[in-house]
Amino acid sequence: MREIEIKIPPGAAKILRRLEEHGYEAYVVGGCVRDSLLGRNPNDWDITTSALPMQVKALFPRTIDTGLKHGTVTILEGGEPYEVTTYRVDGEYLDGRHPSEVTFTASLREDLQRRDFTINAMAYSEKHGLQDYFDGLTHLEKGLICAVGDPLQRFGEDALRIMRAVRFAAQLGYEVEEETVRAMKELAPTLSKISAERIASELEKLLLSPHPEKLRMACECGITAIILPEFDRCMETPQNNPHHCYSVGEHTIVSIGNARPDRVLRLAMLLHDFGKPACKTTDEEGIDHFHGHQEISAQMANDILRRLKSDNVTRKSVVKLVRFHDRAVRLTPAGVRKAVVQIGEDLFPLYLEVKEADTLAQSEYMRQEKLDYLEEVRRLYRKVLEDGDCLSMKDLAVKGDDLIAAGMQPGKQFKEVLEAMFEDVIREPSHNEKAYLMDRYADARSVLTKTGQNK
Ligand code: ATP
Ligand code: MG
Repeated sequence: MREIEIKIPPGAAKILRRLEEHGYEAYVVGGCVRDSLLGRNPNDWDITTSALPMQVKALFPRTIDTGLKHGTVTILEGGEPYEVTTYRVDGEYLDGRHPSEVTFTASLREDLQRRDFTINAMAYSEKHGLQDYFDGLTHLEKGLICAVGDPLQRFGEDALRIMRAVRFAAQLGYEVEEETVRAMKELAPTLSKISAERIASELEKLLLSPHPEKLRMACECGITAIILPEFDRCMETPQNNPHHCYSVGEHTIVSIGNARPDRVLRLAMLLHDFGKPACKTTDEEGIDHFHGHQEISAQMANDILRRLKSDNVTRKSVVKLVRFHDRAVRLTPAGVRKAVVQIGEDLFPLYLEVKEADTLAQSEYMRQEKLDYLEEVRRLYRKVLEDGDCLSMKDLAVKGDDLIAAGMQPGKQFKEVLEAMFEDVIREPSHNEKAYLMDRYADARSVLTKTGQNK
């Protein structure tokens, strides 16, 4: 075997040495070995050892019982946490999700054998060098995701591995080995047993990867049919329209790749046209239209993100971007201010990115015009920001207290007066002056206070 050297962080090296000094075996393992061999920065350094959890705990002053049942102890070393797990074999998987029991073993090889893919099943220590029983290094060099052992058995144990295969292919730009693909296709339906949280986490990693187009593979393997059937409908929906050159699904894939790898942005691209299959009509010239798809897509996005147990902030942001992805902006400062207020100050920059990613995934027809238009919206938006125009109620020169001081009482119409003032100011920023607004809307106030409607 070739001499391979991996630079281990001092904290991890110290833990390995201490375990070795006490007669145990210890290696860094899994993702960190894979990433180091690729010249990438590992997210974390996991350690595998022949020592039992109690033996590990006895050697280190600062430990956390992360998952004693599964053999995992976290050690704090040099301010960094390291997960140290005892060599183990997973017992039978009765439910296709978690092993019914784990058994500790004295064999590193057995521990590596339970891991999902060959590139994730390598261990390394300064003392013993690279431990690679399943050709992980060769597969790393060939760019192959390959199950350890019999893929059907491995996916049968934990169906999430089917999604992990696609996710690693997308993160690394790899292909999946043939027999592994065959097993994925056969067992994709068993993904229905996996929790939404685990599915969502893999889907997100796929979306944020440098190769989100592997979504196509997820579809071809029957994965999306289970976890995101709405996407399959998009793949089955051609768009015969001069603005388009792809099916809805292919357009979606290209648009995701055009967007910056930001969670909200890429989720918005994934979901922005999901309503199209349901909205499709074809006119007498044979041209396809998708009237009203934005709203349907927004509703679907909301349902899907709930199903995937997405957090509320993410869900609401994505749904809003989907709802407004086709909203036209009038090319005037007032038009831009109105759009910013409707879409939200925080989301407007993302809305511009959605538009661009969407446009660049359409046909060349009128592309330059669309991009020029977008550039003009950007220019006006920058100007609006530079001028410090009022864009939110909190920047209105009149506050609720001013209305109270003028004799009004809080209530529905009270809010209406403030909204009328705000609308005025959005149209004309120079109107954002207390004297002007109180005077201009004084009539409304006197009517309200006189008739007592506001009481
Ligand atoms: P990253 O942390 O970058 O997502 P990773 O390879 O470190 O990638 P983790 O999910 O952190 O992935 O898991 C650490 C290691 O544990 C993996 O490299 C693999 O060896 C093993 N592993 C994780 N999940 C599974 C699984 N579902 N089935 C089998 N082995 C797994
Ligand atoms: Mg990891």
